Order: sequence, then structure tokens, then C-alpha cells
Amino acid sequence: MVKETKFYDVLGVSPEASDSELKKSYRKLALKYHPDKNPEAGDKFKEISHAYEILSDPERRQVYDQYGEEGLNGGPGMGGGMDAEDLFSQLFGGGFGGARRGPSGPRRGKDMVHALKVSLEDLYNGKTSKLALQKHIVCPKCEGEGGKKGCVQKCKTCNGQGIRLVSRNLGPMVQQMQTPCSVCQATGEIIDEKDRCTQCHGKKVINDKKILEVHIDKGMRDGQKITFSGEGDQAPKIIPGDIVIVIDEKPHPHFKRQGDDLIFEAKIDLLTALAGGKFAIPHLDDRVLLVSILPGEAIKPNDLKVIPNEGMPAYRTHTHGHLFVKFTVEFPDPNWTTPEKIAQLETILPPRSVPKASDFGDKHIEDVVMADATGYQSSSRQGGNGGHMHDGYEEEDDHHGAGPGVQCAQQ
Ligand SMILES: [Zn+2]
Ligand SMILES: [Zn+2]
Repeated sequence: MVKETKFYDVLGVSPEASDSELKKSYRKLALKYHPDKNPEAGDKFKEISHAYEILSDPERRQVYDQYGEEGLNGGPGMGGGMDAEDLFSQLFGGGFGGARRGPSGPRRGKDMVHALKVSLEDLYNGKTSKLALQKHIVCPKCEGEGGKKGCVQKCKTCNGQGIRLVSRNLGPMVQQMQTPCSVCQATGEIIDEKDRCTQCHGKKVINDKKILEVHIDKGMRDGQKITFSGEGDQAPKIIPGDIVIVIDEKPHPHFKRQGDDLIFEAKIDLLTALAGGKFAIPHLDDRVLLVSILPGEAIKPNDLKVIPNEGMPAYRTHTHGHLFVKFTVEFPDPNWTTPEKIAQLETILPPRSVPKASDFGDKHIEDVVMADATGYQSSSRQGGNGGHMHDGYEEEDDHHGAGPGVQCAQQ
């Protein structure tokens, strides 16, 4: 019987656990709670490491089993204990005789970043998307050994370096170049063909299809990241990186988003603008907002109005931003009515403002009529003088040799 089971509980094993069971469990938990991957669980990682540090040492495990944690504290020759990171790197790094690690511990795999196109509707309502990804996992058959235990040999051609120095004579000079070792495919290791794992063919990893459930939370924004910790490519002796999903907001045909606010461009006719009426905004959920314009409100082109609290839900709080409405007023086509009706309009609309001769001092007043500009713009471009629409006018002014307008002319 052991005095207490705390350290065993921390590692999730029974007090009868074998050394390899302890190691396996520590490995699993340490990967899960390593601060690089799970920053909020820093203390948990230390607890796990401490428990494993004690239990992996046969002498100290015996003391612990007999006297509990108390027996360890202040016991002879117990020292200050090992740093959790050191222990971790010992297990995942140099302890296996693998590649050299920096002082920061085992190498961490690359993050895999994927863009996910998301409609504004889905960002408004929230959605769970399933995403199928290909990734490498440690070969389950050989557990990342590449074959039978001990089958891995150092490549003799490159002495396990994965690269070779090749000398080239260039006249009196000798150039040394590094080239990847072709015998071991730059891995520095050789596995005899007969020993190779039949599933991964000695590659230690296999391709696996992973389905990720991506929760698009209400109010998420373009560029926001959703991280799947440790779901990146696996390889022996590394901490897998993360899969990072980056939200790519699809442009919406009717709404523009500005933070948590929405902007809707409403097209209304002149009668509705002047005399009131209704227009519809099909919203991003299953509602249609039927908006009233009051008689006489007189909406002008480019007017900006707001429907409060009908914007996007904010991320996490879900309080709504505002819905701004920008107006385009559609005017009737030319010759839309009779002179008689226009005379009626004069009795309804505010009176015309008429230019008065007295406003222009002693200037000579000339009556002119406008034409549609379309044809004029294109003919000016065909003129081939730089394509600047004003050039035609400016040049004509130039002949008269006067006026501040000539400054624009390109000579
Ligand atoms: Zn294998
Ligand atoms: Zn080699």
C-alpha cells in the first residue's frame, strides 16, 4: 500500500503503474498542457512534471510510496527539483539521442494555416462548419520508429548529418558545397529495406484525413483566427504545431460591414423619398426589415440614416452594432410626364430659385442649352491629346490667351 496517491492521480495512473506507463501518461499530459500550447494551464504543466520527476526516479518513488510528499521534502539529497522545461526536453529532446535541441526544449512543428471563406450571414448567425484536412500523423503501426525497434541506423554516407560536403575544383581554388545526402534523403538515417514498417515504409508518419469542426461564433471578424491546438502535422519527437483557421469574410452583395456596424445601400424612388412609403431590408437572419419613410421626410440622395441595434452582433457579448442606411434616390426618366402635370408640381414643390441678373454685376448674360455629356467625353478621348477630358476646353481657352484656367493645360 502507498501512503498517498496524489502524484499518481496527477498523472492519471494507478500506484501500480509501470515505468513505461508513467512515461506514456506523462508524455500525453505534458504535450497537452505545455505552456506553448496551453498558456492558461501553466501550473498544471508544472504539477505533471513534478509528479513525473519524482515517480520516474525509483529511489524517490519508493520514498514517496512509503512516506508521501512529506517524506520527500527536506529528505537527504533531494535538491531543488528539476525545472519542468528541462524534464520535458529531456524526454522529448536530447534524451532520445535525436537531433540537438535548443535550451528551450523540443522542437515544435509548424502551424498549419488555412483560410476559411465565411459569408456575412454565417458571421451574423454563427455556424459550425466541417473542414476536412490532410495531415501527417505518427505511424500507428511502428509508433514512429519507421520499422522494428532499433532498425534505424545512422547513414554512413553523410555520417548522420543529412548533408554532405562536396568539393569542386575551380582552377586553383577548391569550392566546398553542402548538398543534401541522396542516400538517406537528407534524414541522416537508414532503415534496411527488410526492416521497414509496412505501413509507413520507414517514413515514420502517414497521411491522415482529419475532420475539424470549426465553430464560427457570432460576430467573428475577417482575419480572426480559430486555433486547434496541437492538431498540426505530427512527427516523431516534436510537439505538433497548431491548425489555425483564419476567417476570410466573403463580400456581401447588399451589406458592407464596418466593425460591428452594417451599411445598407437603399435605392428608393423619388415619390417615396418625397411623399413617404416603405422599403425592405432583407436582413442577415431570417427577417426582413420593412422600413417606413414618413410623408414629407424628404430623403435626399446620399442621406445617411440609422436603424439602431440592427448591426452585427459583437463577438462574445453579442450586443448589436447599428445598421446605417445610405440612400440612392431614383429619379424618373426624361420626359416622364406632361407639361400640365409639371405645372401642377409647381404648385406643390417649393418654388424654383431663379438666377437674378443683379447677382452678376455688369457681366454679359448668354442663354445656353445643355446636351447629354456622354458622346462628348468619348470624342475628347479619341482626340488623342493625353486623354484628359478637360484638355479640349483648356486648349481652346489658350487660343484666347487669357484666364487662370490655362494653368491646367498640359504643354
Ligand atoms: Zn510505420
Ligand atoms: Zn545520408
